[in-house]
Amino acid sequence: MSIAQQLKEIREELPKGVTLVAVSKTKSEAEILEAYQAGQRIFGENKVQEMVSKYEALPKDIQWHMIGHLQRNKVKYLVDFVSLIHGVDSLKLLKEIQKRAAGANRVVDCLLQVHIAEEATKFGFDSGELEALLGSGALEAFPNVRLRGLMGMATFTDDTAQVRREFRHLKTLYDRAREAWPNADTLSMGMSGDYPTAIEEGSTMVRIGSRIFGSRNYG
Ligand SMILES: *Cc1c(COP(=O)(O)O)cnc(C)c1O
Repeated sequence: MSIAQQLKEIREELPKGVTLVAVSKTKSEAEILEAYQAGQRIFGENKVQEMVSKYEALPKDIQWHMIGHLQRNKVKYLVDFVSLIHGVDSLKLLKEIQKRAAGANRVVDCLLQVHIAEEATKFGFDSGELEALLGSGALEAFPNVRLRGLMGMATFTDDTAQVRREFRHLKTLYDRAREAWPNADTLSMGMSGDYPTAIEEGSTMVRIGSRIFGSRNYG
């Protein structure tokens, strides 16, 4: 099936109020343009260099989302144009985004990443750290950061019950964060393999790559 057909199918499945991020990491500019011509405007990348070069080459009304782990020393390369940073996983990173966003005279939308999976390798705050942060007032010191919500990744497993539990946990944390953050409207959870479950559990933003573009070749 073509990229345009895949996009159409997925869009028809998504309830109103769920935003689709087309995850285009490793995919060519031609493939992104194909999705763009089918009406897609939000694309997700996980490497700064790759996102910058695609930003420079492709239409300027594309909204670029950084969905991967972001190193502090790379914030400066994307702060001028990034539309949403999903993977904020430390206060140090938040401070760097604040500093660079102030320098660029922008307010940058961010999600805090929460570690909900069993795997030890995934980045993010754990729920205890998040609760402590929410209670501490520390997040109020970032006038150039707009906290829009939370992002998380479930364990990569066929055990749907476990995936559902993890998403449900993230939704609980999101509901708590919303009480503290006036601009929070985004719960980024769900990928190609688990987005229907994520939507049932309250996702407002799904990040879908391989179901749109086909499997990735990291060669
Ligand atoms: C690659 C990636 C996705 C998309 O994964 P697919 O399984 O191809 O849909 C979503 N979120 C993050 C953070 C990713 O790195």
